[in-house]
Amino acid sequence: MKILTIALQKDGRLLAASYELIEAAKSLNGEISTAILADEASSLASELAARGGGRVLAVSHPELKHFNDEVYAKVLAHLIEKHRPDLVIGPASFYGKALVGRLAAVVGAPMASDITSIGLDGDSLVATRPSYGGSVVAEVTRNDVGGPFLVTLRMKIYPESKDGNGEVVEETVDNSVFENKTRVKELNVASSGAVNLTEADIIVSAGRGLKGAENLPMVKELADVLKGAFGASRAIVDAGWTEYANQVGQTGKTVNPKLYIAVGISGAIQHLVGMQSSKTIVAVNRDKDAPIFNIANYGIVGDAFEIVPALTNKFKAELAD
Ligand SMILES: Cc1cc2nc3c(=O)[nH]c(=O)nc-3n(C[C@H](O)[C@H](O)[C@H](O)COP(=O)(O)OP(=O)(O)OC[C@H]3O[C@@H](n4cnc5c(N)ncnc54)[C@H](O)[C@@H]3O)c2cc1C
Repeated sequence: MKILTIALQKDGRLLAASYELIEAAKSLNGEISTAILADEASSLASELAARGGGRVLAVSHPELKHFNDEVYAKVLAHLIEKHRPDLVIGPASFYGKALVGRLAAVVGAPMASDITSIGLDGDSLVATRPSYGGSVVAEVTRNDVGGPFLVTLRMKIYPESKDGNGEVVEETVDNSVFENKTRVKELNVASSGAVNLTEADIIVSAGRGLKGAENLPMVKELADVLKGAFGASRAIVDAGWTEYANQVGQTGKTVNPKLYIAVGISGAIQHLVGMQSSKTIVAVNRDKDAPIFNIANYGIVGDAFEIVPALTNKFKAELAD
């Protein structure tokens, strides 16, 4: 079986999930290739080749510097047409979902979004994907209809591929591919320097229990001490206390960190669907009956204004040793 993984970069830095896709591909014992699109893709391609990316198809062009799903999908469609993979795996990140959905339409292929595993049943590819907020786990089997099967893989499910011995193949694409309706000229990132929510191993999230925007620095400090990212419930995003980029949940980001600490968050289903697959969940809430405790591995019933500073001080002391 031929498998193509899609590595994504931002500002010339590879998305860590690119290596997770390769690890998922390795588990299928197929012939792996990896696509990387950038203004200068060669060095990124070498990194991928050294970590199991197989034949790394590097496409370099100034129009590929910034993510643009219209252009990226056309380039990838060209690579699919040329190399004819049976399976294409992209990351279930914001950009990955936008890209692979469009790509499926461009190449006319079936697709499963936000899958949590991919395997084989005989010769058939089977992907699992949670639906209805995780209350149903669907198994999606690809019918043998010819052409590729496209999936986006939820981040932080598979470990990162560490090694490999691949080769870099410089690909050229016809210039007409770059004649598009849209062009991304520059990116202005609002919260530079902060840990990326979807890539974070540790997330500390705040909810309406924090009472007001002026109290969020207390939660952000705990996130900083743990070298984690700051997350938020929709209630406090809607209230204007913090930016939408921080929102976790059904209409925000889906996260899957090793540790998720929910502070003053009740645990509405729309929040849970975005974080319930976290490896360890700690909830801080003064209401012992809050639904968040139903999914928490550790529950602290108490006032966030006492608990959070105590945790921050404790971690500061422990991590300083
Ligand atoms: C279509 C749709 C999509 C949605 N998408 C999302 C989404 O993506 N993400 C999301 O989060 N929500 C989403 N929501 C909203 C969701 O239903 C909830 O309203 C929201 O998650 C509640 O946020 P909260 O837990 O911060 O606030 P609340 O539900 O008000 O909970 C606050 C909690 O803080 C506790 N508390 C109060 N004071 C303290 C204190 N001093 N110390 C400790 N704890 C305290 C309370 O006991 C309570 O449990 C969506 C809703 C809809 C209808």
